[in-house]
Amino acid sequence: MSIMANETDIFRDLLDCLVDGVYFTDTERRIAFWNKGAETLSGFSREEVVGKRCLDNLLMHVDASGKELCKNGCPLSETLQDGMPREADVFLHHKNGHRVPVRVRVAPMKNEAGAIVGAVEIFSDNTANVQLSQRLAQMERLALLDSLTGLANRRYLESIVRSRLEELRRNNWPFGILFIDIDNFKSINDKYGHEIGDQVIKMTSRTLDATSRAFDVVGRWGGEEFVAVIANAETNELFDVGERMRSLVEHSMLSAPEYLFVTVSVGGAQAVPDDTIESLVKRADDKLYQAKHSGKNCVFI
Ligand code: GH3
Ligand code: MG
Ligand code: MG
Repeated sequence: MSIMANETDIFRDLLDCLVDGVYFTDTERRIAFWNKGAETLSGFSREEVVGKRCLDNLLMHVDASGKELCKNGCPLSETLQDGMPREADVFLHHKNGHRVPVRVRVAPMKNEAGAIVGAVEIFSDNTANVQLSQRLAQMERLALLDSLTGLANRRYLESIVRSRLEELRRNNWPFGILFIDIDNFKSINDKYGHEIGDQVIKMTSRTLDATSRAFDVVGRWGGEEFVAVIANAETNELFDVGERMRSLVEHSMLSAPEYLFVTVSVGGAQAVPDDTIESLVKRADDKLYQAKHSGKNCVFI
């Protein structure tokens, strides 16, 4: 197997820094390299897999319907045959027996003459994506999406806060909310019209959504107001998330009809066991009021 012959330590260290799993196989699907990310995601150590074939009782990918891909439809063996890169959502077999949803990307490895000598597979944890897409399907069914932004609407946000409050009481899982309001939005409507105003709301919502972590939920509370439900957050983290959102909105812009920037003010509050939705939102809203009166474009927790 020549793939590993010129592998440098730097190269190996680099691959070990990735959270993604990375492995190389030869044309017989025999594993030649296995990084730390692959060890973490699969539970199998480098020693356990290098030299083995991935279908030898190792990863045994199945698709969502349970079809075993090793025998038929293995993206890696298809790439070895036709030299085309591939992506797939599959479930790998963890050493402890359970299934782990992963997004798999496969690319061929070729020698200087262009002949396929192996393949590299990169796999990343798809848990958040799978949960999110299931959650999204459910949201669509119950009409819980805001039609302008595609984010969770107020009703959905309220149900999330309700269940987070229950978890806080039951398991003591801390969480908080951020109340986010676009600054001087009325003047944007007045100056550019309602349609551009809508585009500004959409732009802001995309930035907020892209900034939020897998277990957090951002939704539109109404008008130019958003609420983010931040899981597992003490006051410091709440501030950090709010500050990241504030800063990234400040650096978002529309380019038509002219370069157009907006800022947001953010008020945050950590939930306590006695909270109701109303009391929690009120505390965050009070902080937002302080942020507005401190010159806007800032975060108060
Ligand atoms: P502040 O910095 O204090 O938040 O001032 P503001 O102008 O952002 O706040 P204000 O509450 O005075 O104005 C909000 C405006 O948002 C008023 C309303 O017409 C407008 N608005 C509410 N919903 C929508 C919407 O869906 N689309 C558009 N384009 N405008 C909206
Ligand atoms: Mg407002
Ligand atoms: Mg506003």
